[in-house]
Amino acid sequence: MYQFFVEDEQIGADVISITGADVNHIRNVLRMKPGEQVRISNQRGRDFLCSVAALSEQEILLNIEERDIKNTELASKIYLFQGIPKGERMETVIEKAVELGVYEIIPVAMKYCVVKLDEKKAQKKVARWQEIARSAAKQSKRSLIPQIHPVMNFREAAAYAMQCDRCLVPYENEAGMAAAKRAFEHLSDAGSISVFIGPEGGFAGEEIEALRGQSQVLSLGARILRTDTAAITMLSLLMMKLEQEQEQADAQAKE
Ligand code: SAH
Repeated sequence: MYQFFVEDEQIGADVISITGADVNHIRNVLRMKPGEQVRISNQRGRDFLCSVAALSEQEILLNIEERDIKNTELASKIYLFQGIPKGERMETVIEKAVELGVYEIIPVAMKYCVVKLDEKKAQKKVARWQEIARSAAKQSKRSLIPQIHPVMNFREAAAYAMQCDRCLVPYENEAGMAAAKRAFEHLSDAGSISVFIGPEGGFAGEEIEALRGQSQVLSLGARILRTDTAAITMLSLLMMKLEQEQEQADAQAKE
């Protein structure tokens, strides 16, 4: 079933109106017919099951069949703090992180970042990254569009990350797997989880020291992962554990 995002004002009592670029997509690309079902999200966690009622050149009307259907969000909000990598790697991280259920992505300018973005360039990048997040959210049928935060410097980012219930920091020079084991236990006790990933150049000594003490610093094994691989690995593990804990909790609630 296809999914589309709408604004709240497009949602009526019994009918949802689709306008703009989605009209052409639904009519001429997907060639949908009256009666076909679609999933609609208000971008903020409310989902509807609808069926196509009428199609015109400017507007498509959908009948709401079921409101507030089960949403597709993870039980905990994951905030990904990503040291900005060069080239297209940030785009890869954003696309994959959105598929894996991230809640918000904060691009962080760190000491060993290879790219340095000035204010104007950073704004343009963030707008592009937000577009990538939107289309990944649509494709993966998310119930919300994860926000791409404006670029933060390390100090701002560290302070923001500490506001989460749990802060996980994969660090390339950390040894042993005990910390990683602990980090992934009882995840759903944490409503919000921050994950802080260094850029290609890694963490500067003073950066990791600023995070240590207030976060769980952990190793992802004996090999050095590229920054995008490290982010995707962390999010995959979190996604899997959170889904399992959720299913267990649902089963217990039913008993
Ligand atoms: N230039 C550094 C590697 C940086 S890798 C070096 O050669 O040592 C980029 C980021 O990915 C790291 O800062 C860390 O956050 C994460 N990362 C990569 N490999 C990791 C590992 N084995 N364990 C934990 N974190 C890792």
